[in-house]
Amino acid sequence: MSEISETLHERGRYATRTRERIAAVLRDERRYLTPHAVHELLLSRGASISLSTVYRTLELLVGLGIAAARSDEHGQNAYVFCTVQHHHHAVCRSCGRVEEVRCGPLERFARDLRNDQGFEMEDHAIELYGRCADCTQR
Ligand SMILES: [Zn+2]
Ligand SMILES: [Zn+2]
Ligand SMILES: [Zn+2]
Repeated sequence: MSEISETLHERGRYATRTRERIAAVLRDERRYLTPHAVHELLLSRGASISLSTVYRTLELLVGLGIAAARSDEHGQNAYVFCTVQHHHHAVCRSCGRVEEVRCGPLERFARDLRNDQGFEMEDHAIELYGRCADCTQR
């Protein structure tokens, strides 16, 4: 919890209890959750936070880099917790667990791309899909 409030403070936002609780749900679950699913989990934890507050706060957390969003085929957004450092998401297709992975080899790839094709990579977005260690063992 303190780690989350520190991040909120660093980013110039007052760490309200509501923001902390919503960020904590995402951090504990480690999978993409819809605002409805976050809302359900908050209720099960005894927090009475309105669904509209959940929607607003999730967008705020994305803006602060504490969460990432993606939209499914129905245009419904889902959210996942993010640490501050640059990383990518490895999503388990079996259990939905989201792990953060560093992108070391990509720096080498960017260098090759610049040398071979003169292309200057400025940004990138990658998501990996597969099976996590637990699911591979089953
Ligand atoms: Zn992330
Ligand atoms: Zn898994
Ligand atoms: Zn990267």
